[in-house]
Amino acid sequence: MPSLQSVISCLSDYDPTALPVDQANRIIGEVVEPVRGIEQLPIRSALDRVLAEDIVSTIDVPAHDNSAMDGYAFRSEALAAAQTDTVELEVIGSAFAGGAGALAPTAVQAVRIMTGAVMPAGCDTVVPQEFVETVADGTHIRFAADCVRAGDNRRLRGEDLARGQAALPAGRIVSPADLGLLASLGIAEIRVRRRLRVAFFSTGDELRSIGEPLDAGCVYDSNRYTLHGMLRRMNVELLDMGVVRDDPEALEAAFRMACESADAVITSGGVSVGEADYTKQIMARLGDVTFWKIAMRPGRPMAFGRIGSGEGQEDRQDRDSALLFGLPGNPVAVMVTFYHFVRAALHRLMGANVPPLPLLQVRSAQAIRKKPGRTEYQRGILGRAADGQWEVRITGQQGSGVLRSMSEANCFIVLGHEQDSVKAGDPVEVMLFDGLV
Ligand code: AMP
Ligand code: MG
Repeated sequence: MPSLQSVISCLSDYDPTALPVDQANRIIGEVVEPVRGIEQLPIRSALDRVLAEDIVSTIDVPAHDNSAMDGYAFRSEALAAAQTDTVELEVIGSAFAGGAGALAPTAVQAVRIMTGAVMPAGCDTVVPQEFVETVADGTHIRFAADCVRAGDNRRLRGEDLARGQAALPAGRIVSPADLGLLASLGIAEIRVRRRLRVAFFSTGDELRSIGEPLDAGCVYDSNRYTLHGMLRRMNVELLDMGVVRDDPEALEAAFRMACESADAVITSGGVSVGEADYTKQIMARLGDVTFWKIAMRPGRPMAFGRIGSGEGQEDRQDRDSALLFGLPGNPVAVMVTFYHFVRAALHRLMGANVPPLPLLQVRSAQAIRKKPGRTEYQRGILGRAADGQWEVRITGQQGSGVLRSMSEANCFIVLGHEQDSVKAGDPVEVMLFDGLV
């Protein structure tokens, strides 16, 4: 992995005290490299895992031209040859799904066919049964020549996937559709990247855990719970290390343990400027760590880097060091920095190739104050206005400690770095929460 210092030294306009969101993400993206471990799994167990290899189709799907409808298969010459506007054909047999399809009708014959059955030799068209009238005790059918065109209701061999065609690329997170696609190719097992193991803990002497009395001046630790939820959605293994006291020895022991057992460690709290605790000092001592003030709101302070337990050798890097994300303490800031920095970094670490989430443009229901020079992630509620248009309004209080704003919201209103204040009715960009994880 390239060192943080080497990546940063290549940037001409690097300012760690007012770092634009995009630049922070670019630096993180260059430092993080995918884990190497791979395992082979039955496809059902591979849901939400990261494909470690391209999947190339070894067969045509479907394997034969087949019928898309219940009806009658025939040669389309019969349409062109029809003297009147009605076509009449002799029925010579039936073709069922799963059969091998031995019938070969002539241009004046048809075969009764079920959905999925192999098209009889020479047939290229299926007339759905609801357009057909049977005549002469069912030995013949009759239908209007204009109710079907040549090639209708036939699925072509290989139209879903042709043999040799790339079906799924390495780096893809396996979806429910992909499981079906793999099954349709007859693939039982696939190679996926090993799961990430992510350690996390909260720092701050004011924090109490659920079940403990809430002493004067204390708050319950909520960040470990939001982190638990966000990490679970990313399908990583969790190592919840609890609340770590603001004590140099306890912090150092926690960081060392995290390095030895996890690929990444996420902490919350203790990275603000002028913070009187030891978190930053220990982070800096254990590795290649930088402390940023990001030009964003909420979520300004953040530590990023790689820490090691000291015993690691180059080729055992995965095991003895961990990527570090020192997130701010404020509960909304934790979620915002997770979604806008950590999520993409973990995707990269797990070898996943995930396209950026779409930003949708909608109308702002109200004026929003904003200063150029920082990116803001306001919590928004997107809904339909009385005129039928989609419109977003902000949840009430936008303070970075107001976690309720994240529960109420269904999207971020993303106000870009250069953007100025928004007037009521102006378009703004939103990022939906659904699909974020
Ligand atoms: P800090 O970044 O450590 O200065 O913390 C900023 C604010 O976030 C303070 O009000 C903390 O009490 C609060 N805070 C820090 N960690 C947590 C946590 N794990 N759960 C809830 N609030 C927290
Ligand atoms: Mg603190």
